[in-house]
Amino acid sequence: MADEPLTRSPQPSDDVPAGGLSAASSEAYDANAALFERAQRRIPGGVNSPVRAYRSVGGAPRFVRRAAGPYVYDAEDREYVDLVASWGPALLGHGNPSVVAAVKAAADRGLSFGAPTEGEVELAELVHDRVHRLGRSPIERLRLVSTGTEATMTAVRLARGATDRPLVVKFAGHYHGHSDGLLADAGSGVATLALPASAGVPAEIAAQTLVLPYNDEDALRLAFERHPGRIAAVITEAAAANMGVVAPLPGFNRFLVETAHANGALVILDEVLTGFRVHPGGWWALDPDGALDVDLITYGKVIGGGLPLAALGGRASVMDLLAPLGPVYQAGTLSGNPLAVAAGLATLRAADDDVYARVDAASQRVQAAVTAALTEAGVAHAISRAGNLFSVAFGVTEAPRDYDEVRAQESWRHPAFFHAMLEQGISLPPSVFEAWFLTAAHDDRALSRVEEALPSAARAAAAARRPA
Ligand SMILES: *Cc1c(COP(=O)(O)O)cnc(C)c1O
Repeated sequence: MADEPLTRSPQPSDDVPAGGLSAASSEAYDANAALFERAQRRIPGGVNSPVRAYRSVGGAPRFVRRAAGPYVYDAEDREYVDLVASWGPALLGHGNPSVVAAVKAAADRGLSFGAPTEGEVELAELVHDRVHRLGRSPIERLRLVSTGTEATMTAVRLARGATDRPLVVKFAGHYHGHSDGLLADAGSGVATLALPASAGVPAEIAAQTLVLPYNDEDALRLAFERHPGRIAAVITEAAAANMGVVAPLPGFNRFLVETAHANGALVILDEVLTGFRVHPGGWWALDPDGALDVDLITYGKVIGGGLPLAALGGRASVMDLLAPLGPVYQAGTLSGNPLAVAAGLATLRAADDDVYARVDAASQRVQAAVTAALTEAGVAHAISRAGNLFSVAFGVTEAPRDYDEVRAQESWRHPAFFHAMLEQGISLPPSVFEAWFLTAAHDDRALSRVEEALPSAARAAAAARRPA
């Protein structure tokens, strides 16, 4: 990095040109591969979350030793421009000083108490005010949990408790975490590994979830006709971003809310990924259909600023059914953990309009460079976007609208593209079914490096061959 002292001791990566990291530096490669081998002996697949394992792109994952701003550094301290951003949370970039200081100060006061803290009240107020300022927000109450999985799982239980109905509607390719009932036709790692669903989910539980094609109004209308009085809720990603990015078609979210409510069902808007990333008020505030009259919203990722924190919020009439006020049980030893709350508060306080303007601009700059490079290399493609989130679909001319269209693309071009970028020091999501994430810390140096790497990666994508 430019501001490093000139007197530092030699680093293993010193012989690697800045920004250009080739697989030829085999010593560097070996440190990651050696760690991966060690990891696989004691950790299933060597990772603690499946997509990290590089299964769909091949090779050993880079083990991250540290991160700063828009960069991550691997086991050999090689620098990569990071377009994963911890899968979303790092909106401000890695190691933002105000967030790190807040977490350190919180740690000095104690790690976990199992008792309420003022920070939790502040965070609930902040989320309410932030969303409310932009329209009549449905967030009258907020409960903090530790993961997005818990947030959606609890939201579904709450909807069933509120309506006394058993069924839940979800859309194919939408990912809502890994609770039993929500894994059917899920995106993210389930899509990356080409699994239809998960083993270990009893058929009786899977049968309580109706999976519909996304952006299909007729399918939704039909589901309510076929199951009168039985559907508790429709859960939908506010804008789908776990099968690559697939935005709701104009009017779809409004139709969904009106149809659900006309049939006595609730709407759960899953903003675990989009919330506080695409806009200060989440997709809810950005949706072209205007303020959506949803009943529950789930948050995760950015709301914890990189620590384990997620939340569900909604109308008081529904949220107050949660224990201890109501009969729907939910609890957590580490819920509202003071370090996670401090990280979340500091992140949201720092995430002002300027931050979103920078993330939006960085995203647009990378999108333009991707299109230019792929077009120049003759690779048919579409950039699929929802706010500042985007993904690249190969071999198609229009952005996919549902899971079938997503899967019809030439996803076999992605591994070559991915590795060509990685060798040049750019870390992309290791799956074609994931969004690319920019941060407010992606400055001109980082973005120029992405632009410089793209043409040869595009040529690698062009030269890729369909597997037999
Ligand atoms: C990541 C994600 C989840 C699950 O969150 P975890 O914290 O990984 O459990 C749920 N819904 C959406 C839309 C997500 O992107």
